[in-house]
Amino acid sequence: MARIAVVGAGMGGLAFASVMRNTSHQVTVYEQASELAELGAGISLWANGTRLFDEMGIAGQMAERSCETEVAFFRNEDGSVAGSQFLARENWYRSEYGYPYYGAFRTHLQSALLEVIGRDIIQLNKQLVTLEETDDKVLLHWADGSQDSADVVVGADGIKSVVRKYVSPGANPAFTGNSAFRGLAKTADLNLLPEPHSFTDWMGDGMHVLNFPIGRDFEYQTIVVFIDGPEQWTEEAWRIPADAQEIRTHFDGWHPAVSQLLDHVNLNERWGMFQVSPMSSWHRGRAVLIGDAAHGMMPHHGQGAISSFEDAVALAHLFNDPSMTSVAEALTRYEQERKARGEKIQTSSRRLNDCLHLPAGQGRTERNAVLNSLEKHFSWLHSYQLSV
Ligand SMILES: Cc1cc2nc3c(=O)[nH]c(=O)nc-3n(C[C@H](O)[C@H](O)[C@H](O)COP(=O)(O)OP(=O)(O)OC[C@H]3O[C@@H](n4cnc5c(N)ncnc54)[C@H](O)[C@@H]3O)c2cc1C
Repeated sequence: MARIAVVGAGMGGLAFASVMRNTSHQVTVYEQASELAELGAGISLWANGTRLFDEMGIAGQMAERSCETEVAFFRNEDGSVAGSQFLARENWYRSEYGYPYYGAFRTHLQSALLEVIGRDIIQLNKQLVTLEETDDKVLLHWADGSQDSADVVVGADGIKSVVRKYVSPGANPAFTGNSAFRGLAKTADLNLLPEPHSFTDWMGDGMHVLNFPIGRDFEYQTIVVFIDGPEQWTEEAWRIPADAQEIRTHFDGWHPAVSQLLDHVNLNERWGMFQVSPMSSWHRGRAVLIGDAAHGMMPHHGQGAISSFEDAVALAHLFNDPSMTSVAEALTRYEQERKARGEKIQTSSRRLNDCLHLPAGQGRTERNAVLNSLEKHFSWLHSYQLSV
């Protein structure tokens, strides 16, 4: 039996704990926050994530509380359709990938995971400051001055990971040159939306607006405005004030539904979009990274949380694999399984940003051809299955 310390009770940390719940290992999750609150309202859950839900113990709960979105639409500024892909319509997505696409509340995902793992293995108010290794264990030093030890540390501490500083010193998240504004609205208040049960990217020059339904009855829409700029992010904070009036002017002349969506977005608060640069390794000694700590990415594929599930389940399988003779062997095998894929999704998400923000006339025809045959271009993403 190993004592496994998970740093971070976010998506990846909770997913790992869920798969480890019935094993002989002793898992403790340490979280810096004083309570478990989720940032952001909605989440897209694609088949490469939902296929893991049974094992995570949350398949039933998520099926009851999420909607199956009908179509993914890509529209130009004026609302004309540039590309589309059936999802639940004609049952296309399930029959293609074997598992559903869900639009869900993040709180539902979090509460389903908490119900499975129980709160007693989570220690709140534990902010990791540093860690050090001895021959046979890792010592974790917390901001409150206390310390704990473990046989292995799983760094699930997100994009600003402290565990990453130990695994790969100097691998800091880099600003992507893009920022976002977030919102949430009742679907009933968005009477101008042409397809409220569908997922839509409204694309323009240097920016796009995303809306997708969440909740069992499509009752809310998650809205995110993505915009190129500023060129640099000099602030320490990840959110900075913005001039809402100025941001709005970028969308003058767009389809009236976009104007209505913007009424429900906090345009006074700009979120910087950061990405973790590829590292030479995701593990060092007895410490290993999962999720955003390893491959924090732009959110355009809606894969950040899901890829942390893939990491978490792979790592849990390897810790429970009797053919693994040591921690070092399990961590090496984990990296072989996951690193190339994590980095591929990162690169693809980055490219998708540029694709969605193309100026008029510059390659939009080729781009739209891709958007009309998404199943050809992104099947690698949705059909993925772990091999460990
Ligand atoms: C606008 C936007 C939209 C997104 N939409 C989607 C989507 O639709 N689908 C999707 O799959 N992903 C989406 N994502 C990405 C997704 O939210 C993240 O990739 C995901 O939450 C990463 O999970 P994680 O467990 O690695 O990190 P997190 O969920 O960030 O969790 C990290 C946890 O570690 C804790 N922590 C941090 N430092 C310490 C420390 N020193 N000590 C102790 N605890 C610590 C934090 O408090 C936090 O609880 C989106 C992201 C953004 C910005």
